[in-house]
Amino acid sequence: MSAPLDPTKLKITTVGSRKTYPPNEELTFGKIMTDHMLVAEWDSETGWGTPEIKPYADFQMDPASYVFHYAFCCFEGQKAFVGEDDQVRIFRPDKNMARLNKSTSRIALPTVDPDVGVKLMREFVKIEKDVIPKGRGMSLYLRPTVIANNASLGVGVPTKALFYIIASPVGSYKASGPIRLKATDDAVRSWPGGTGDTKLGANYAPCVVPQQQAAKEGFMQNLWLFNGYLTEVGMMNFFLVFLNKETGKKEFTTAPLDGLILEGVTRMSILELARERLDPTEWEITERKVHITELIERSKKNEVLEAFGAGTAAIVSPVQEVCYHSESVVLPTAVDGGETTKLVRKWIQDIQYGVDVHPFAEVVN
Ligand SMILES: *Cc1c(COP(=O)(O)O)cnc(C)c1O
Repeated sequence: MSAPLDPTKLKITTVGSRKTYPPNEELTFGKIMTDHMLVAEWDSETGWGTPEIKPYADFQMDPASYVFHYAFCCFEGQKAFVGEDDQVRIFRPDKNMARLNKSTSRIALPTVDPDVGVKLMREFVKIEKDVIPKGRGMSLYLRPTVIANNASLGVGVPTKALFYIIASPVGSYKASGPIRLKATDDAVRSWPGGTGDTKLGANYAPCVVPQQQAAKEGFMQNLWLFNGYLTEVGMMNFFLVFLNKETGKKEFTTAPLDGLILEGVTRMSILELARERLDPTEWEITERKVHITELIERSKKNEVLEAFGAGTAAIVSPVQEVCYHSESVVLPTAVDGGETTKLVRKWIQDIQYGVDVHPFAEVVN
């Protein structure tokens, strides 16, 4: 019999004394982990073992473990916040669990029952709630991960796996200066039939060399193109605000979910809020393909108002410039972003910090 993952069996062992963290303004993204981790082991014959929250520690693994050779690894990124009312909240954890399962399923790793996954996440956040840094922009970054750890050099269906969650207190992500993007067409992040719509570890390592190349040329990030169409920016979804000079209407747009892009929880939330809150007599909200040529041509007609990247880490990152070979699209926005970029950031942050009490942010108590 293969055992289900059972949250009622959760075993908790806490550390005696807590580590101390640097002040908020010195927290760099993902460098320091909290004192605990949640771990559950899985075996294809016996199923899930007892989930445990225990002191953060190294894993001991066979060097032949699948994860080290064949990239059986996927992850999630989400956050817990201390609100202005001192309540702890997590943002749409069910969406992250659903996506984790989309990723595990793609590489034959076990799925985590979404309700159980969220329950375990909540228990873990409760244990760490006192180390969530406070203030707007501050949060506890949570990293649910699944890896295969059976040892064999023959690649096949994993027979052993670990589901674990670790956490890192993080500050508000601020780019050091204007975000200039290199529209990259000599490497692709994803392709039809590929895995770009899942958060597999294997998707990320190959993006580092093109990013290094872009950095050498003075760019912050790659704007990933596929056949000339804009897909994502770095590890963020990409949004544009166009002005249609003929109709006078503004268009708020992002790439469609065609398998090439990651379905960001931030993207999904922004679109849902925009459809609810932007005046339809002034706005058109679309998910469509935008070609780099359209961006360049419309920028020449002053029809490109704003551009930003969207994701859990930074919520929105305003883009100042996109360069494609010798062409440059300069966006007429301040360092903080244009009007719409700022509005979207406020919507999301107000929800995260309990200023706007909204079902997207679930209280943990
Ligand atoms: C994680 C990720 C995003 C953002 O997703 P969120 O759920 O909004 O954090 C976007 N693009 C890629 C490639 C990602 O890995």
